Amino acid sequence: MGHDAAVGRRHPSAGRRRPAAGRGRRRDPGQRQRRGTRPPCDADPRPASPPLIICEESGRTGPVSVSPLTRDEHSAEFFDAAARGVLLLRWSTECGGYLPPAAVICPCAPLAPLEWREASGLGEVVTWTVIPVRGTDAVPPTVVAYVELAEGPWITVRVRGIDPAKLRAGHPVRIGFETPEGGGETIPIALPPHPG
Ligand SMILES: [Zn+2]
Repeated sequence: MGHDAAVGRRHPSAGRRRPAAGRGRRRDPGQRQRRGTRPPCDADPRPASPPLIICEESGRTGPVSVSPLTRDEHSAEFFDAAARGVLLLRWSTECGGYLPPAAVICPCAPLAPLEWREASGLGEVVTWTVIPVRGTDAVPPTVVAYVELAEGPWITVRVRGIDPAKLRAGHPVRIGFETPEGGGETIPIALPPHPG
């Protein structure tokens, strides 16, 4: 999983079809709002592109590999916190809205500085995909989900400890962390809502 898949790189509203008079426009009324914690600036928390991890490797016979992540200046604080078991989000000093970790601007106030804020680590599954391992039942499938955090932003994470057959939209999760065996940065994952 690259940095993109772990924390998203592009601004959530980048590349999406949005009305020209975007500011202040409500989203399509047909879209349900699960929580009252939407960023007030009408930021769309959804990633602009599908998670990169969802790509089949032809002939793969083992679990989906996770490439070691390398930090950069922007992500260093995020990964430092992750190593301590803390999920950080970007937070707009202008509108008080939360943004995904890799956000670089707030869509309603592009010049406003963003700060890091601790997230609750609670969220719920929006959608997910199950990637089976061919040729064996011994290795559990890889499950990757979009998780809507309690603060509003969506992140793409691997799901651990939840039977894929029991996943559903709205399934509550808490964010945990794991460090790939091969090394690399500690990354967020989705776990069952209650430890154990
Ligand atoms: Zn904003």
